[in-house]
Amino acid sequence: RTGSVIITGASSGLGLASAKALAETGKWHVIMACRDFLKAERAAKSAGIAKENYTIMHLDLSSLDSVKQFVDNFRRLGRPLDALVCNAAVYQPTATEPTFTADGFELSVGTNHLGHFLLSRLLLDDLKQSDYPSKRLIIVGSITGNTNTLAGNVPPKASLGDLRGFSGGLNGLNSSAMIDGGKFDGAKAYKDSKVCNMLTMQEFHRRFHEDTGITFASLYPGCIATTGLFREHIPLFRLLFPPFQKYVTKGFVSEEESGKRLAQVVSDPSLTKSGVYWSWNKDSASFENQLSQEASDVEKARKMWEISEKLVGLA
Ligand code: NDP
Repeated sequence: RTGSVIITGASSGLGLASAKALAETGKWHVIMACRDFLKAERAAKSAGIAKENYTIMHLDLSSLDSVKQFVDNFRRLGRPLDALVCNAAVYQPTATEPTFTADGFELSVGTNHLGHFLLSRLLLDDLKQSDYPSKRLIIVGSITGNTNTLAGNVPPKASLGDLRGFSGGLNGLNSSAMIDGGKFDGAKAYKDSKVCNMLTMQEFHRRFHEDTGITFASLYPGCIATTGLFREHIPLFRLLFPPFQKYVTKGFVSEEESGKRLAQVVSDPSLTKSGVYWSWNKDSASFENQLSQEASDVEKARKMWEISEKLVGLA
């Protein structure tokens, strides 16, 4: 039968490109989980995704109520869930003051990590119930959270410290808005959120892979320098970043190619290994990449998971 996949943030960039790549195989129906319904509809149309191959559903990851509502609405559709892709993200590299989600968490970690944490925890049951031969839960990671790479060493570097801001609620009132308890920095908050994404994937793997057979994976799709992710960056950066990535670092990847990579992680029969962080070499061949020490710290992953459960109301 046709597979059923939810992709968050499928209204632009990587999410849209992977929605298109999966829909075009004719083997997948894509549920585009987006905060802006009209934008998503226009994006799907202009990408040329055939109407029968997608459904748009409202999801605002910066509100836990919206996440719960989305899960209810999805269940009402009566479709199975065979794969879930946690892709959406916000990035505020120039922000000097924190902004907050509906529940009062710093926006980058609140949206990119906590919204997806609740979503994937709730939808795990739906994945379990699917009879699809290879069920997968993918959380998009990034090189920028990995301090074992050149890109991950551009300051400010990701670091979760002892998680004191996180356990305090990340609300900027009685706790810091940063996970490590430090001064707010928008670029760092994004990188920290990506470390949480990669730790979450591994913790899912440790807790649930053996019993459920679900494949949990993360990936770094390459530097897709043209997406909306950089929309809040200064204009000069937005002008120079794509050619810099193309000609200097040579890490540049087109939206189309990145979409194909994510689609592979969702459906390629050779990428079923769980607990893996995928990357691609210069010839666009996939390989299992190493995560930084912090992004693979088992003890930190467990602690981060437990605090996340409390913050989203699961514990
Ligand atoms: P885009 O900005 O193009 O896409 C991000 C998507 O997330 C958009 O669809 C956006 O919706 C959605 N989104 C943002 N906030 C919310 C929210 N509160 N609720 C629901 N959806 C939301 O960026 P990319 O395609 O580049 O990023 C996709 C993923 O790829 C991210 O996880 C990012 O960290 C990762 N990544 C990107 C790299 C790059 O070089 N671009 C490199 C490595 C990883 P809307 O359209 O409404 O704004």
